[in-house]
Order: sequence, then structure tokens, then C-alpha cells
Amino acid sequence: MPRLSPRLTAALAVAAALILALPSAAHADHDDDGTDPDNRNQAVKGIKLTTNGTNAMNHGKAELERSVITTSWGGGDIEVYDADYGDTEWSGRTDCTNWNALWTSCDIIRVRFNQYYGLTASQWRSLGCHEFGHTADLGHRKASNDSDNNSCMRGKGIWPTHYDQHDLNAIKAGT
Ligand SMILES: [Zn+2]
Repeated sequence: MPRLSPRLTAALAVAAALILALPSAAHADHDDDGTDPDNRNQAVKGIKLTTNGTNAMNHGKAELERSVITTSWGGGDIEVYDADYGDTEWSGRTDCTNWNALWTSCDIIRVRFNQYYGLTASQWRSLGCHEFGHTADLGHRKASNDSDNNSCMRGKGIWPTHYDQHDLNAIKAGT
């Protein structure tokens, strides 16, 4: 093997840094890309959650249990945080903090709930359902494909608190 020139080594280091930056950039639009769970048994842990955050987590976990994914407590798969993140224009966010070796699925998925917006108890449950749906790689639903307004994977505006059958089928097909 020829030794790499210092210049080439530096270029490779920059390329590696750019690749490492991609996961967060890919989530700027609050998409579900890249949070494919790495298995169907997800261990959940809340980190210093408020009561609202705990309620959202508990509800999201219970909703996941309605799907083909089983859950347990203890962490290592889904880690949940809440804080006043300020006026970020998102009330929840899901991304991957620890990829598997091939970067094809996520070992540790991070869920963040934003306390800033003063949600109602029902909205917190909807938020938990929504973000945990992202951990199962669900994307957003729109009025055009959720005409009965009963999917928590809808974006802003309405706050359903459950997955509908379409969501459950999508989890089953996608994991
Ligand atoms: Zn979302």
C-alpha cells in the first residue's frame, strides 16, 4: 500500500467530517429518513424528563406496542429528552445518535420534546405518538392521505393521539 500524501489525508479527513455531519442535516426538515430501527424490540429510556415528557414517552411507547414492534424499558434503542429548546418551530424531533456499522439503520434513536410551546395534555400524547412513530421510520401523513384525521403522524394543526391502521401497516411493512 502506498502511503497517502499529507494533502490527500487531509482531504479524506474533510470528507469523513462531511459524512458525519449528514445525519443531522438530513433531519433538518423533520423527515424520518435514517431512523430505521435496527430491530423490532426497542428498549426505551427517558432522561430527566418532566411530567409532560414522561407522559408523552409513556404514550408513545404504548402506541408502538400496538404495532409489530415490542418495547421494553432500559434504553439502548430509544432515548428520550425534553427541555425548553426555545422557539425552534418544532415541538418534537427524532434523529439518530448512534448508527450501526453500515449506516443503514439506527442503533440509538434520540427523541426530543420541546417544552417551549405549552402543549395541552392531549397534545403531549399526540407528540409522543408522533415522535415514536418516527423511531419506527414512519413519515408524515397529510390531509390528502389521512382524510379521517386520525393519524398522529399528521404534521402541525391537528393532534390525533394514535396510529391509524395505515400507520400500523406501514410499520409492519417497513421494519
Ligand atoms: Zn414529525
